[in-house]
Amino acid sequence: MGGLPRLVCASANPDKVAEIATVLDGVVDLVPRPAGLGDVVEDAPDLAGNARLKPAAVCAAAGAAAVADDTGLEVDALDGAPGEHSAPFAGDDATYDDNVTKLLAALDGVPAEERTARFRTVAMVVWPDGRELAVEGVVEGTIATQRRGSGGFGYDPVFVPVEAGGLSFAEMGDEKHTISHRGRAFRALAAALEAEAPTA
Ligand code: IMP
Repeated sequence: MGGLPRLVCASANPDKVAEIATVLDGVVDLVPRPAGLGDVVEDAPDLAGNARLKPAAVCAAAGAAAVADDTGLEVDALDGAPGEHSAPFAGDDATYDDNVTKLLAALDGVPAEERTARFRTVAMVVWPDGRELAVEGVVEGTIATQRRGSGGFGYDPVFVPVEAGGLSFAEMGDEKHTISHRGRAFRALAAALEAEAPTA
């Protein structure tokens, strides 16, 4: 893996880790989060603040550069909700399915042209010397009236990106990464790492 920057993946969500590993394959030597690290509570008021918490905690514990992302789904008809509360939208122990059910109910009767939404990801690297690098990735889309597809995770069955000819993210397989918020954020991160050539 020679010259590739080495980063500890600070996310504990296996669905996210799999996507991050796919997008960074060949450009970053991504190493797993050390076993035994406790959960990091994401209690900052915004995505950028939350995006820092996991890599900062893992960097401090592991003594090595760490990376993670924080992602929110912003639904215009809900004034930007669930946003940074996307994970606990339907409650602290909500499953992906609970959250989708609550979202569909909240948008019941909302016409197609008013179901616009976007995923926003802030990806951040924190180094042991205190340096930080943050980038953002966004994808615009709409919220479908019912679930479609079995791939992806989270809100993917009801998120229809504008660039995919009407397919939901859950119907797209790995093509999701070519246009997704996370794909864009982590490709930007890889480019910034390459440009800065930090001593990771
Ligand atoms: P987190 O706070 O960044 O871990 O993510 C918040 C929530 O957003 C997750 O629990 C998922 O429900 C949802 N989410 C994050 N990324 C995606 C994605 O790529 N597709 C669908 N849902 C996502």
